Amino acid sequence: MRVLGIETSCDETGVALFDTERGLVADALYSQIAMHAEYGGVVPELASRDHTRRLLPLIQQVLDEAGLSRDELDAIAYTAGPGLVGALMVGAATAHGMARALGIPVLGVHHMEGHLLAPMLEEERPDFPFVALLVSGGHTQLVEVRGLGYYTLLGESVDDAAGEAFDKAAKMLGLDYPGGPLVARLAEGGDATRFRFPRPMTDRPGLDFSFSGLKTHTLTAIRQLDARGALDDQARADVARAFEEAVADTLVIKCRRALDQTGLKRLVVAGGVSANVRLRERLEQECAKRDARAYYPRGRFCTDNGAMIAYVGAQRLLSGEHDDIGVMKAVPRWPMDRLEAPSSSPA
Ligand code: ATP
Ligand code: MG
Ligand code: FE
Repeated sequence: MRVLGIETSCDETGVALFDTERGLVADALYSQIAMHAEYGGVVPELASRDHTRRLLPLIQQVLDEAGLSRDELDAIAYTAGPGLVGALMVGAATAHGMARALGIPVLGVHHMEGHLLAPMLEEERPDFPFVALLVSGGHTQLVEVRGLGYYTLLGESVDDAAGEAFDKAAKMLGLDYPGGPLVARLAEGGDATRFRFPRPMTDRPGLDFSFSGLKTHTLTAIRQLDARGALDDQARADVARAFEEAVADTLVIKCRRALDQTGLKRLVVAGGVSANVRLRERLEQECAKRDARAYYPRGRFCTDNGAMIAYVGAQRLLSGEHDDIGVMKAVPRWPMDRLEAPSSSPA
């Protein structure tokens, strides 16, 4: 079955084609980052408008790349939430319009389920069950995954998401949006021993996260350096390094606890922050110590993309699911534990 996946939840227009026999056949992405950068963050109205401009040409590009025509598609999957409602509507309306015209099923997919299962697009894919650390721009969650749709939330951030914390730290350091990769690059030249930033909520049991205190700590450190006239390039790099170490360390500590608590040996790490090299190094060390194994999406599937949506759509379609045509779904807030498992496929 050939499933077209459409992602428009935020500032990336993503389209891909997943074939249940051949795997991922084609994918294309248009990032709006440059457009939003001048505002220091995503402007929702501009995002929706740009998705309307980019989506149809991207769909054509993917079909051309796959050497398929529209009427060879078997289903359309789109991101139904969570995300920016106007941006989601563009994907939902396009998917439902195409599905109606072609007379094929349509499925609204949960964006975080997409991130969660993105590692399934790799050659080294995890078997169920596993623990998943979802670290993106809007979410920081630990989830126990027993099968498609069998998700138990183990812990989550009580305030900022890890990616959001990276973006805010970047802003404080005078870096562009989105700041995660830029903070990481700056941190490469930093001295890890100069500052030690707090590891929030690691001194008590539990799997929840909090990153807002770390943000304040970072701002205070920068202001103190600045007040002393000591905020030079090296100091900025040292702050970036201390911040990155604190986030990575906090995430590793919580992953360790989640693996202990569940007794599982497989860890999936997905979402934009899973692209962070330092985090991956630290997780690898931790997994090696306990004979566990970590799985990640390839770099470009850590952040938003159409491939993960096409993949989830295909899996849910295979288990007999689809939505009513014309009932468009655009759900800005949608907790993942409200997702249901397909009725036909206990894991
Ligand atoms: P959500 O998926 O929660 O709705 P989102 O779609 O905006 O949010 P993603 O696209 O998964 O999030 O990830 C983007 C986030 O990942 C940004 O906050 C960005 O700064 C961060 N990020 C990307 N690469 C890196 C990196 N190398 N190191 C740290 N953070 C990174
Ligand atoms: Mg994005
Ligand atoms: Fe995302």
